[in-house]
Amino acid sequence: MSTSTTGHEMSAELRELVTPGNFIGGRWRDDADEGLEVIDPATEDVLTQVPQAGVADVLAAVAAAREAFDNGPWPRMSPRERSAIMARLAERVAAHAEPLAELGVFEIGSPITLSRALHAGGPIQFLEYWADMALKGPHGRFQEGLPLADGPTVSASMLFQEPVGVVASIIAYNYPLMLIAFKVAGALAAGCTTVLMPSPRAPLSSIAFTRIAEEVGIPEGVINLVIGGADAGQALTEHPDVDMVSFTGSVAVGRKVMAQAANGLKRVVLELGGKSPNIVLPGADVDATIGPSILRFTRNSGQGCGATTRVLVPREETERWSEGARKFMDGLVVGDPWDERTDVGPLIRREQVRSVEGYVDRALEDGAEVVAQTPGAPPERGFYFMPSLFGGVDNDAEICQEELFGPVGVVIPYDTVDDAVRLANATRYGLNATVWGPTDEAMRVARRIRSGTVALNGGGPERPDAPWSGWGESSVGAERGEAGFAEFFQVKHVHWPLAGIGKPPGVR
Ligand code: NAD
Repeated sequence: MSTSTTGHEMSAELRELVTPGNFIGGRWRDDADEGLEVIDPATEDVLTQVPQAGVADVLAAVAAAREAFDNGPWPRMSPRERSAIMARLAERVAAHAEPLAELGVFEIGSPITLSRALHAGGPIQFLEYWADMALKGPHGRFQEGLPLADGPTVSASMLFQEPVGVVASIIAYNYPLMLIAFKVAGALAAGCTTVLMPSPRAPLSSIAFTRIAEEVGIPEGVINLVIGGADAGQALTEHPDVDMVSFTGSVAVGRKVMAQAANGLKRVVLELGGKSPNIVLPGADVDATIGPSILRFTRNSGQGCGATTRVLVPREETERWSEGARKFMDGLVVGDPWDERTDVGPLIRREQVRSVEGYVDRALEDGAEVVAQTPGAPPERGFYFMPSLFGGVDNDAEICQEELFGPVGVVIPYDTVDDAVRLANATRYGLNATVWGPTDEAMRVARRIRSGTVALNGGGPERPDAPWSGWGESSVGAERGEAGFAEFFQVKHVHWPLAGIGKPPGVR
C-alpha cells in the first residue's frame, strides 16, 4: 500500500477489507506464482499487489462452488433464511460505505462525490433489493400449482423455480461493486453458488465484497473469488461444472465468452457495450438539456456502458446547443478525485487514454472538428483525458459507431424527428438512450428507439427493480429486476395422476 501523491492513504479499515488474496472453498489463498499490481489511476502509484490466480485455482474454485451447490446448505435453505443472510450482507456493506466509496477513488479514480453513489450507495440499494427478492422468489413465487388438467387422466402439476446452479460471474472494471451487486447478489438470492472473476485492473472491490460476505456467514464455497487473466476466464467459462456464465464487459471479450460457453451449451447472460443516443427534440428546453447531456458522457470519465455519447440536435439549434456546451465544458473541473469539487477524474489506465486518443486522432484526420473541450492541460500524473465534444462527422464515422469509454461526445445535427430516430437506431448497439422534449412526443420517440432503457427528460433515479438489457450487440439476456432474476432459475414441472378423480364419462 502506498501513500498516493494526492496525499491520501488507505484507512486501517479499508486496508483490512482489501487484504489481497483469492478466496476458494472458504479459504483465503495469498500464494501465487505471479502477483498483479493494482494501480491508483490518479497517481500512477502501485496501491498493492494481489496474487494472480491461474487455471489450477479456477478448477479448485469451480469444484468448491459445485460442492457447495450440490451438497451445501445454501440452495437448501428456506427463502427466509437466505434472505436474512442477504439482508445482513446489505447491512454490513452499508456499515463499510465510506471506506468502499474511498476504494472507488483509489481503485477506479472516480471523484469522491460520484464514488459515494456509484461504488457504495447504489450497491447497497441493490443488495437490499436482492434480500427482498430472495424471500419473494422470481415473479413472487418459488413454486405454484397449475390448474388440474382434465382429459383421460386427471392430473396435478406443480412448477418449481430451481436455482440454475454454479454461476461464473465475470465483471468489468468500471464500477465493480455495482456489478457484483447486480449479478453476484442476484445469483445468491436465487440460491446459486458462484465463482467471481473481477477485472485484473480493479480487483480490490471484489476482495472487499468477498470479505464482507465471509463476515456475514455465507457458507463455504458459495462465493469464490479468483483474480486472473484471460486464461483463467477461459478455463472458468469452458468448465463443464459451470451451469451459467454471467458476463459484463466489452463486445470483443463477450463474443469470446459466448463461444467458450457454447461447447457446454451453458446459459449465458452478456451485458456489453453501448454507443447510446441523446436526442434533443424540437420544443425541448434546449439550454436545460446541455449540462445533464454533457455530464452523462463525462461521468466516471465516460467509463459507463450507458453513457449517451451521440447527441442528436435539431439542425437549427445546433449552434446554440454547441455554444452552451462550450460554456458548460469550460467549467468542468478535471483532476484530483479526492477534491469534492472535481467533476472528472482519470481513466483506469494509460492504455485506455491511448485508446481514446487514437479514436480522436483518427476522427480529426477524417475531418471532425472540436466543438468544445475543457480547457487546460491534464494533470501531469494520472491517466487523464480532457472532456471533449466533436462535430462535423456523419453518424457512420468511427467516432459515432465505436464505444470509446472515455469522456468524449459527438454532436450530430438532424432535420426531422424521423431522421433523429433513424440516426439513433443506426448503431449495432441498443443499450440506453435519452430523449428531451415535450413528454408526449418524447414518449412516442422512446417507443421507436431500439434501446433497453430510455430516460425521458433526465429520467428518474436508479431502480433495482427495473431490468437492464439491450438490443443488438449490447446484451444477451437481462440483468437486474424480475427479468434479471429469472435468468438464475430453471423451471421444473412435476406432475402426477389423481387416481379415480373426475374422469370424464366414458373414459376408462
Ligand atoms: P473487458 O471485456 O476487457 O473485460 C471484462 C472481463 O472479462 C474482465 O474481468 C476480464 O478479466 C475478463 N476476460 C478477459 N478475457 C476473457 C476470456 N477470454 N474469457 C473470460 N473472461 C475474460 O471489459 P472492461 O474493459 O473491463 O470493461 C469495459 C466494457 O464493459 C465496456 O465495453 C462497457 O460498455 C462494458 N460494460 C457493460 C455494462 C453493462 O451492463 N452492459 C456495464 C459495465 C461495463
